Amino acid sequence: MKQRLLFLGPPGAGKGTQASLLANKYSLNHFSTGDLLREEVAANSELGQQASEIMNKGELVSDELVLSIVESRLIGIEKGWLLDGFPRNIVQATALRALLDKISQPLQAVILIRIQDSILIERLLSRGREDDNENVIKHRLEVYRNQTAPLIEHYSSQGILKVIDGNADIELVSSCIEKELCTSI
Ligand code: ADP
Repeated sequence: MKQRLLFLGPPGAGKGTQASLLANKYSLNHFSTGDLLREEVAANSELGQQASEIMNKGELVSDELVLSIVESRLIGIEKGWLLDGFPRNIVQATALRALLDKISQPLQAVILIRIQDSILIERLLSRGREDDNENVIKHRLEVYRNQTAPLIEHYSSQGILKVIDGNADIELVSSCIEKELCTSI
């Protein structure tokens, strides 16, 4: 099975849920940059202090900061891994590619979870995280469209993009993802 993966999709698409399920089932390392940043904020570290205001506005934190978090986790890793919430723009994708080349662990698949906007907003509002109020959600969706969505074409042209319908229930979405990862072509 493919086991060097990344999950792509708008906020609220279910990336975190699906990534956790898959990581637990196949013992993969799961790195969510959003969760890692929230841990830094909770610990009130210097990095967390820098990130918190930006996150609450729904903007992206600096590429440098996120890259340092991801790099420190991927270097020296042995088992498979799954990235969720990273990369979020072309600069981060280019830096990731360079890092993966350096450690000789090329990306094997990109899972894009697609979902209707109306469902997204409903899910995010019911989640109630600090950055989940209506104005910030709208802004995060705009940031996704402008900065992250170009990665769809980027990975599609590399032939490793798998598109999943995220409108269905959790179990169905997860079985669709597993099927995609087990096919060799
Ligand atoms: P969601 O995708 O549901 O909006 P995340 O937990 O992935 O939530 O991210 C929350 C916030 O953390 C983002 O709005 C952004 O401020 C910050 N963040 C997470 N990952 C990155 C990243 N790769 N680059 C820049 N900022 C990030």
